[in-house]
Amino acid sequence: MKLAKRIENVPPYLFAQIDKKKAALKATGADIIDFGIGDPDLPTPEHINDVLHAALDDPKHQQYPPYEGTKEFRQAVATWYKKRFNVDLDPEKEVMALIGSKEGIAHVFFAFIDSGDIALIPDPAYPVYKVACILADGSPRFMPLTKEHGFLPKFEDIPRSVADKAKLMFLNYPNNPTGAVAGEKFLKQAVDFAKKHDILICQDFAYSEIAFDGYKLKSILEIPGAKDVAIEFHSLSKTYNVTGWRIGMVVGNSQAIAALSIIKTNVDSGAYKAIQHAAAAALTGPQDCIQETVKTFQERRDVLIEGLHSLGSKVAKPKATFYVWVKTPRGKTSSQFVEELMEKCAIITVPGSGYGKCGEGYIRMAITVKTPRIKEAIQRMKEAGIRF
Ligand SMILES: *Cc1c(COP(=O)(O)O)cnc(C)c1O
Repeated sequence: MKLAKRIENVPPYLFAQIDKKKAALKATGADIIDFGIGDPDLPTPEHINDVLHAALDDPKHQQYPPYEGTKEFRQAVATWYKKRFNVDLDPEKEVMALIGSKEGIAHVFFAFIDSGDIALIPDPAYPVYKVACILADGSPRFMPLTKEHGFLPKFEDIPRSVADKAKLMFLNYPNNPTGAVAGEKFLKQAVDFAKKHDILICQDFAYSEIAFDGYKLKSILEIPGAKDVAIEFHSLSKTYNVTGWRIGMVVGNSQAIAALSIIKTNVDSGAYKAIQHAAAAALTGPQDCIQETVKTFQERRDVLIEGLHSLGSKVAKPKATFYVWVKTPRGKTSSQFVEELMEKCAIITVPGSGYGKCGEGYIRMAITVKTPRIKEAIQRMKEAGIRF
């Protein structure tokens, strides 16, 4: 067998590695508390499931869906964007369905990146951006996200020669893994920078609805002129607790969406129509289920943060996402601390270094764990003598 060279350059998927370690720990009979992968443990709202149940029996859903997504789904996305962000989208040209946003995020590189082309990727970040860039034979250039700068990239630090050559830039706010948010001022700067250097912005907005203390996120498409240079990846996964359904969307610049659709029509055949129908119902139906989800995560966030503070950590409360980005105790690397939590406390966390060089010195904790178990985790850390 002769594998492709591009495979050799791909690190093993971060969560596949963590799953292996978790399985080994489980085999010892340990009572694991899992703050690892960010997969909501909350149920899909019943009214959304009901629509899917009925849709399964409808024979018109059994066949291949339209490549760009059903009319109904694209219209529902446009309606939701108008209502939620006051952004106008043409459902025909400015909205496309994705088989989960991860699919579109990976494929967009194949539409824009030729061999050696530069893509600007945040560090730390969701690993898919970097790896998809490598798979497309592109050259990722990293934009460090530091605490001092609110985990936002500093465009002025990107050398002009790199900026001029770059074809695509990924942004992700609210941010996984840091929990950081981006305000209007930053989004404006990003649009200006992209216009100046002719770069396509790909903003990953998976956590737009998971925001706390009444905080409301802005879509980059609310910035005047953003549609000239930006597309936004979005997903129902986190908003409605449907990660396994695999349904997302890309919205914004029509030329970029048309380019991505050329890749997609040749690689996949779209998301199951029953899923698109139920997803449309989720977007156009009652939205109070989101408040319920947010309330639960906010409560968990507060318990975890308070617990970590009691152990000497100075970690800040994230305004959005269900991640807490925790600095490791002095002198411990991300991996060392993750191992320690696993061995002494049977607690699974993710090493920040898995998200990029700049994630070193942090761990990520997903609050997809029920409140009593969060309290139990803090108690275990206390008993194991862990201090920050
Ligand atoms: C969860 C997540 C996604 C992927 O969501 P799907 O629509 O389920 O593929 C994309 N980006 C980030 C940063 C995420 O955390």
